Amino acid sequence: MNYEQDHKDIRQGVTRLCADFPGEYWRECDRERNYPTQFVTALTEAGYLGALIPEEFGGAGLPISAAAAILEEVHRSGGNAGACHAQMYTMGTVLRHGSKAQKQKYLPAIADGSLRLQAFGVTEPTSGTDTTALRTTAKLEDGHYIVNGQKIWTSRAEHSDLMLLLCRTTPRDQVTKKTDGLSVLLVDMRQALGESLTIRPIRTMMNHATTEVFFDNMKVPAQNLIGEQDKGFRYILSGMNAERILISAECIGDAKWFIEKASSYASERTVFGRPIGQNQGVQFPIARAYAQMRAAEQVLKEAIRLFEAGGNPGEEANLAKLLSADASWAAGEACLQAHGGFGFAEEFDIERKYRECRLFQVAPISTNLVLSYVAEHVLGMPRSY
Ligand SMILES: Cc1cc2nc3c(=O)[nH]c(=O)nc-3n(C[C@H](O)[C@H](O)[C@H](O)COP(=O)(O)OP(=O)(O)OC[C@H]3O[C@@H](n4cnc5c(N)ncnc54)[C@H](O)[C@@H]3O)c2cc1C
Repeated sequence: MNYEQDHKDIRQGVTRLCADFPGEYWRECDRERNYPTQFVTALTEAGYLGALIPEEFGGAGLPISAAAAILEEVHRSGGNAGACHAQMYTMGTVLRHGSKAQKQKYLPAIADGSLRLQAFGVTEPTSGTDTTALRTTAKLEDGHYIVNGQKIWTSRAEHSDLMLLLCRTTPRDQVTKKTDGLSVLLVDMRQALGESLTIRPIRTMMNHATTEVFFDNMKVPAQNLIGEQDKGFRYILSGMNAERILISAECIGDAKWFIEKASSYASERTVFGRPIGQNQGVQFPIARAYAQMRAAEQVLKEAIRLFEAGGNPGEEANLAKLLSADASWAAGEACLQAHGGFGFAEEFDIERKYRECRLFQVAPISTNLVLSYVAEHVLGMPRSY
C-alpha cells in the first residue's frame, strides 16, 4: 500500500497518537454521542491543531500540506477529526482579515488550545445553500452589534468558546449585490450562553456534536467585527479552498482505511475453501475504489501545490473534494460488501465509518454545488442559481 512520504514524521506522530484511541474508543463515543474530549485534548497538546497558525502567534507555522497530512492520518487510523478540524482552519478568517489587535488577542490562545474557535455559524434553516438569503441580523447600537436570528448545523458550538458568525448588517433590498451587506463577527459565546444565546444539540446519524443556535438580542462588541462591515461574504469565501483541501484529505484517509480493511479481510476470510479475495467479484470493487482514491489524491496534491504557491485553486480544491468524497464512499461500499454480514456489526467499525463518510456528500458543501461551480466557473456554462 502506498504510504505518503510527504510530512512522514508528522504522519508517524499522528498515527502513534491515534493508536491510543482505538475502535473501542470511537464506538463508545458514537454509541453515547459523547464528544471525544480525550482525543481532542491529546491532539491539542501535541500541537497539531495549531499547525496552520504562524509561529509569530504561537502556532507551528506549517503549510497546508502538513495540516492535510494530520487530518488524513486521523481518518486513516479509524478516527474522526470532525470533532476538532475546524480549530485548525476557522482561525484563517481572523488571520487573513482580522486587525493586528484581534490577531494578537486571539491567535496565541487558539494556537495553544486555551481558546477554542471551532464553531462556524453560516447555515440557516430557511436559507440553506443560498447563503446570501440568510436572515440573522446584526445592528450596530452604542458600540455593540445586537444580533437576532438562528443558525442550524452549527457543529461543535457546545465545545467552542468562540463562534465565527456570518450575519446581515444591511438588508438585502438595500444592497446592489446580494453578497454585500453581510458581516463576520467573532462571538465570545461564553458571555452570552444561557441568556441571549441558546444552543440546542441535534442528534444525527453519526456522532458530530452539531447544534442549532438561537440569538435573542445578543450583544457583540463592535471591535469583534472582522474586517470591514458589509464585506463579510468574501472573507468567508476566502477560506473555502483551504476547507475543501482539508476535508478532501480526511476523505482520502477514510478511503485508505476502508481499502486496507477490505483487502486484508478479503485475503483472510475463507468461504468455499478459499479466500473470498480470490474471487474477482470481490477484488474488483476494492481495486476500483483504490484507483479512484489514488486519482483523487493526485488532484488533492495539485490543489495543495497551487495553494502553497500562493494561488487560488478553486477548480482543483473543488475537484479534490468532489473526487475524494466519491472515492471514500466507493471504498466504504466495497469494504462493507466484502465483509458480508460482519460489516454490519458495530465491533468492526465499518458501519460507523460508513455513516461518517456519507456526510461529505452534503457538508461542508454538497456535491451538486461543487458540480455547479465546475460547470459555471471552469466550463463557462450559465449560472444555474
Ligand atoms: C452534520 C452537519 C454538520 C454541519 N456543520 C456546519 C457548520 O458547522 N456550520 C455551518 O454553517 N453549516 C454546517 N452544515 C450545513 C451544511 O453546510 C449544509 O447542510 C449544506 O451546505 C447544505 O445545505 P442545506 O442542508 O440547507 O441543504 P439545501 O440548501 O436545502 O439543499 C438540499 C439539497 O438540494 C440541493 N440543491 C440546493 N440548491 C441547488 C441548486 N441550485 N442546484 C442543485 N442542487 C441544489 C443540495 O445540493 C442538497 O443536496 C452542516 C451540515 C451537517 C449535516
